[in-house]
Amino acid sequence: MVDIGRIGFYWFTGGKLRYATYCRHGERGVGVVDTDGATLHPLSLVADAARSGVLAVIERAATGALPTAPSGETIRLADVVLEAPLPAPRRNVWCVGRNYHAHAKELSASVFKANDAKPDGWPIVFTKVPECVVGPHDDVRLPGADVSVQIDYEAELAVVIGKGGKNVSRARALEHVFGYTIVNDVTARDVQMRHQQWDMGKSFDTFCPMGPWIVTADELDGANTRVRCWVNGVLRQDGSTADMIFDIATLIETVSRGITLYPGDVIATGTPAGVGMGLAPPSYLQHGDLVRIEIDGIGHIENRFVAADGAS
Ligand code: ZN
Repeated sequence: MVDIGRIGFYWFTGGKLRYATYCRHGERGVGVVDTDGATLHPLSLVADAARSGVLAVIERAATGALPTAPSGETIRLADVVLEAPLPAPRRNVWCVGRNYHAHAKELSASVFKANDAKPDGWPIVFTKVPECVVGPHDDVRLPGADVSVQIDYEAELAVVIGKGGKNVSRARALEHVFGYTIVNDVTARDVQMRHQQWDMGKSFDTFCPMGPWIVTADELDGANTRVRCWVNGVLRQDGSTADMIFDIATLIETVSRGITLYPGDVIATGTPAGVGMGLAPPSYLQHGDLVRIEIDGIGHIENRFVAADGAS
């Protein structure tokens, strides 16, 4: 157990914490997950601030103000519903395509074909609309066969920006990281491939499961952690962020070139090899499939894929 005094200490040092957004009795709250992984220490936030989830903590930390204190209450994680730590990001989620060497290779004949001439020049950057974010255990709704029949998963480490900034240098970039979380960059491959931009095939409702919480930057070595994904219990992706083509600092430098980053911005850093499209033959998600993504040092998210109308 983490005692409240110790949490208070970490508060002032700003480190070693897992921040979760949860719902209990119909009300949204923000809390710190205990090291036992089973209990939660709610923060004393007014309802208005709590509505934005962990963003309230990030924004406050970015101003240099003293952090919000714990309420003193302790609740069991099992008694709440975890929501996405950032249930309603203020703007689009940044995403990076083809950022793991092995994944670039498995899709080199399809979505990445046009870019193969410059494998290490500039990253592919696209976005997902913020409204597609759902919680770590929420259902993902398949959009219907008339919209897409090629729904795929992408397990990804996501960087959450703390201190904002523009034209952030690679050398200073990690100072702007508040922490890390997990996203499933769910993708409609057929839609992704038929448009010049990827945003449509990446932004269908519920297509961005996120969570289970945000671990603060000093708790995780984002440059070297294991990313795994299972579909119905079968391991499909098993990579290390050490295999990234563009590292986290480079991605922050890139995205902030001429564009101001704000506290709470999210950058999904790309996916390792093993997506459904890369299998021979390709295998796409169907009604009832269960996708679990685990990142060492963070935790896991697990989402059921269901037909939009509930039928198979
Ligand atoms: Zn992705």
